[in-house]
Amino acid sequence: MTVIDRDMDSAMVDRIVDGPGGYTGVAGDEQWAAQIRRLAKLRGATLLAHNYQLPEIQDVADHVGDSLALSRIAAEAPEDTIVFAGVHFMAETAKILSPDKTVLIPDQRAGCSLADSITAEDLRAWKDEHPDAVVVSYVNTTAAVKALTDICCTSSNAVEVVESIDPDREVLFCPDQFLGAHVRRMTGRENLHIWAGECHVHAGINGDELADQARTHPDAELFVHPECGCATSALYLAGEGAFPEDRVKILSTGGMLDAARESNARQVLVATEVGMLHQLRRAAPEIDFQAVNDRASCKYMKMITPAAMLRCLTEGADEVHVDPETAKLARASVQRMIEIGQPGGGE
Ligand code: SF4
Repeated sequence: MTVIDRDMDSAMVDRIVDGPGGYTGVAGDEQWAAQIRRLAKLRGATLLAHNYQLPEIQDVADHVGDSLALSRIAAEAPEDTIVFAGVHFMAETAKILSPDKTVLIPDQRAGCSLADSITAEDLRAWKDEHPDAVVVSYVNTTAAVKALTDICCTSSNAVEVVESIDPDREVLFCPDQFLGAHVRRMTGRENLHIWAGECHVHAGINGDELADQARTHPDAELFVHPECGCATSALYLAGEGAFPEDRVKILSTGGMLDAARESNARQVLVATEVGMLHQLRRAAPEIDFQAVNDRASCKYMKMITPAAMLRCLTEGADEVHVDPETAKLARASVQRMIEIGQPGGGE
């Protein structure tokens, strides 16, 4: 592991405080950004940031996008070290697709309530109850769950993935119940069993709120970003008619940014984690982008603080490990998805 010279700004490093909500004590200012870039260069690292990261983390990164797009960038990047500013399952997915690279996450405690809603033991027991079923898992799952999965999916391609399966085979769909309900409605499939998982950020975007927003913003468009699981309830509710269908756009990150640049709307409501607003406002400053729920902020995403980034690049921690056999099986489930159709994403 490279040892970084701490002299240049050891005072900044010394200010890092490790608290219950993550690492704090360092402001994300220009001096910090210069230090992060210098350390990344010394370490030969590329910096990837998920769309739901804090604005200063997005601004310092080499690439910003959704989890799958970033994992593919990680695999293609010439650098041997990847710093993944996102939550743990995302850094694991990057490791699965880049087994020979060093993958670092600035704070390994940054979990995901959706990924945590099904464990490998849960899935094994569920499979035992349905031994002939095909398992489809959303990308918001741990490497261990992906390793027990036949085909992964994103919300962009979940319907296509399920339609590719023999209609007579049972399907176990996990972990997101909203995405599962959307897939069942779109495919009309009766033999689709859905795991009752959800994300705590979802809970803040409900049907009443969407209907209310449609009423009070009669000219606004609604952008729903289907990745990360953060918007699947909005996806489901929009399909149920809680928001007029002609004003709803279901878009990947890249599609959302393109649509923002092309839109004539004066106001756009965004039904996803609030971090996405930063990229949208940069892409189309003339549009008034508002969150459907401004409390839809993921506390795990926000654990990747300026202090956590500094610690990560100074110490070379936290390193993400996935055992080779798990990684091989998990990679196969991701690759099967890619063979079936475009996973969508933020490219
Ligand atoms: S917003 Fe929800 S699905 Fe996305 S990372 Fe946070 S907990 Fe997981």
